[in-house]
Amino acid sequence: MAGLYVHVPFCAQACSYCDFHFTTRLDGRNRMVDAIVAEIKASMPAWSGHTFRTLYFGGGTPSILGAEAIGRIAETAFQSADWALEEWTVEANPEDLDAAGLKSLKDIGVTRLSVGIQSFDPVVLEWMRRIHSAETAESSIHRAAELGFEHISLDLMYGLPVGPENRWHSDLQRALALPADHLSCYILTAEPRTLYGHQLDKGQLTAPPDEQVVQEYQELCTATEAAGFEHYEVSNFARAGGRSRHNSAYWDGTPYLGVGPGAHSFNTPKRWWNARSNAAFLRASEQGNFGDQQSFELLSNADRFNEALITGLRRTEGVNPSALLEETGQDLLTQEGLEALIADGDCEWHQGRLRIPEPRWPMGDAITLKLMC
Ligand code: SF4
Repeated sequence: MAGLYVHVPFCAQACSYCDFHFTTRLDGRNRMVDAIVAEIKASMPAWSGHTFRTLYFGGGTPSILGAEAIGRIAETAFQSADWALEEWTVEANPEDLDAAGLKSLKDIGVTRLSVGIQSFDPVVLEWMRRIHSAETAESSIHRAAELGFEHISLDLMYGLPVGPENRWHSDLQRALALPADHLSCYILTAEPRTLYGHQLDKGQLTAPPDEQVVQEYQELCTATEAAGFEHYEVSNFARAGGRSRHNSAYWDGTPYLGVGPGAHSFNTPKRWWNARSNAAFLRASEQGNFGDQQSFELLSNADRFNEALITGLRRTEGVNPSALLEETGQDLLTQEGLEALIADGDCEWHQGRLRIPEPRWPMGDAITLKLMC
């Protein structure tokens, strides 16, 4: 079993908080598609014996490529490897999802859209430097559902330093009224080299207080539960059958190949990644050697144990200590601090697996750190 991730490093505009790898210079799109196609062809022979089940176009803004280029990349992947396709996701921004664009994505076989909405509030959208309006976002989701997309995910953000007081309540209500079966809700973090990071450094903005973030998280949990969503991972909520299979496979330790500049790949015990540079990636493609711009690391048993905790404890299923012991030789049950975490309510046993209770997920990183080796 395996997944394929395709990184599309283009965006129409740089959002104020984003440190993903992308460029707003769109003139290199055709060359980039050629290079990604070349990397798939060069990489797939090493993946013979794997059956790919999920395909995910992320970015950047994959929808900016249009369905023809996305279809060309996918077709190359389908012809170069063994597939039993269960899910094909394309990340999209609302402004790219007009009727013709949506129909083309449906026609090539895309099964799931992940739409970057972030907020419906005009003040917030302007501060974020998003291109779409609330109305564009809402109409694009209705249109996608009418055109037959069964799986639609919305990205939203909370813990913001701007916007009216009831902004999160209002955003949640508007999102939950849309025909989407999945929500990804992230706490905004200030990354260096972003406009938001710069505004904090210069004192032009103040980060929201912890109480605001906790209160918004609690409202998120309550509102999504009332609307019939399952909170299956710290940032992810799904209606029945709506969990992201591709992302769930990451958290399960399923091998995945990532192609495109900055994309990461994993096949235990090795992790490797392309340089975050479009120029280096295009040069590698011209030279027919993608390896020179890649870096890699070999994960020790302790690394794999720690990663399993980081990904597993963020999920409602938690981690299975016996499976972890078998895979990594590390015994979670003898980790110092486990008893205290359980006594304090930071961890709990559920059906033989250890997990962090939902109300404590926002503190999950600090809790997980206490169990890592
Ligand atoms: S948030 Fe999305 S659309 Fe905005 S700059 Fe980052 S990748 Fe591009």
